[in-house]
Amino acid sequence: MQHCDTLIAPRWCVPVEPSDVVLIDHGVVLNDGRIIDILPLTEARQKYQPSAFIERSEHVLFPGFVNAHTHAAMSLMRGMADDMPLESWLNEGIWPAEKRWVSAEMVRDGTELAIAEMISSGTTCFSDQYFFPEIVAETAVDFQIRAMVGTPIIEFPTAWAENASESMNKASTLVHDAYADHPLISTCFAPHSTYAMSDESFVELRVFADQLDVPIQIHLHETAAEVAGALEKTGQRPFDRLRDLGIVNASLLAVHCVHLSDSEVAAFAESGVNIAHCPRSNLKLASGIAPITRYRDAGVNVAIGTDGAASNNTLDMLSEMRMAALLAKGTTGDASALSANQALRMATLNGAQALGLAHEIGSIEAGKWADLACVDLSHINSQPVYDPVSQLVYTARADQVSDVWIAGKHQLDNGRLTQIDTDNLLARSNEWRDRFASSVN
Ligand SMILES: [Zn+2]
Repeated sequence: MQHCDTLIAPRWCVPVEPSDVVLIDHGVVLNDGRIIDILPLTEARQKYQPSAFIERSEHVLFPGFVNAHTHAAMSLMRGMADDMPLESWLNEGIWPAEKRWVSAEMVRDGTELAIAEMISSGTTCFSDQYFFPEIVAETAVDFQIRAMVGTPIIEFPTAWAENASESMNKASTLVHDAYADHPLISTCFAPHSTYAMSDESFVELRVFADQLDVPIQIHLHETAAEVAGALEKTGQRPFDRLRDLGIVNASLLAVHCVHLSDSEVAAFAESGVNIAHCPRSNLKLASGIAPITRYRDAGVNVAIGTDGAASNNTLDMLSEMRMAALLAKGTTGDASALSANQALRMATLNGAQALGLAHEIGSIEAGKWADLACVDLSHINSQPVYDPVSQLVYTARADQVSDVWIAGKHQLDNGRLTQIDTDNLLARSNEWRDRFASSVN
C-alpha cells in the first residue's frame, strides 16, 4: 500500500480533460498538493493508504473554477452604484469612492471578502486587477487561494501610485519580482484600458513586460462608446492601437470584447489573444452581449470571468457559466451553441489557458495541482440526475458547493470555510459599507 494525503471518493468525477467524460465511482488521489492518480475506487482502496478518506456519495467532483477576471477588493462596493452605464458608473460612482477610500487596509478586507465568496462557490483561482496588488497577493497567500495578480496601470493619480510609470516601477519590485516562481501566485501587468493609458505608457509597459516576461491583461472593446471614443480621439480602434504599440500577442488577455469586427476576431485567432467573457457585468452595465460563439468558431480561446462585485454583483462562477451558456444559445438561435460540457470547460480549463496555467490547473489530471470543487447534487433542484454535468451547469446553486481543495488543502469542508473567520470578516465589511456610504449619495 502506498501512502497518500487524501483520497476523494465522489459519486461522479468530471475531469474536463479528456472532454465529455464522466467517471463513476472513481477515486481521486492527492499527495503533496497535487493529483497523483485517478482510478476506480475499489482499486484505489487496495493501492493507497490515505491520511484522509473523503466520501461524497451524492456529489460531482470537478476542477475548481478559474475566474478569469475580477477586481476582488471591489466586493466592498457591492450594490453601491447600481443601474448606471459604464461611463457614469466609473466617473460618478466608482472612481470618486475609490479616490476617497482605497487603502491597503481596504484592499486587504475587500480581497478577503471576495476570497470567502469565491471559495464558497467553487472558485480555486482568480485573476485580479486592483490597486495595492502586493496586498492582493499577500491576502491570497494568507488564505491559500491561487491567484493571477494583475498590477494596475492607469494614467491618473491613485491611492497606490502617482502615474502609470510609478505603477510599473512599484509593481516590478513589490509584485513581479517578489512572487516570481511562487506556487500559488502568478503575476501580470494590468493596464486599465486604452482610454486610461497614453502611448508613452504603453511603450514603457512593453519594455517592462518583456524584461520581466510577464503577460498583460486589459479591458478592451467593452462598450460601443469606448470604440467610438477611441476613433474620435486617436483615429484608431483600441485594438488597432494596441497592435501598433506591440501589445498584441498570445500572452494578452483581453477582457470583455463585447464589440469586435470580423477582422479583429480573425486577428485575435491568428495572434492567440485570449478573451475573458464577463456576461453578467456586460448585461448589468448595459454594455451588450459578447458574441462568443463567433469568437470560439474562429478558434479564439474564451474564458469566463465575473468582473468585480461592484458591477455583477456576485463572484459566483456557477451562475456566470450558466449565463454564458444561455446567452450563447439565445443570441444565436442555436440551442447547441454552447453545450453544458463546453460551458464547464470555459469556466475551468479555458480560464487556465488564458492565464498561461493550463499545464498546472484546469482539469483533473495526474500531475496537476489538486485544485478541485465538489457539488452536492442531492438537493431537490438538482434531482433526478441523468447527467451530472447538466445538473452542474443548469441547476446547481453556490450553496450546493460542499468542498473545495486548493493545492490539496481542504479549504471548504462540507460547506464550512476552514481558513476564514466569517463573523469577523462580515463585521469589518459592514464598517467599510458605512465609510463608503458616507461618500455616496
Ligand atoms: Zn473589470
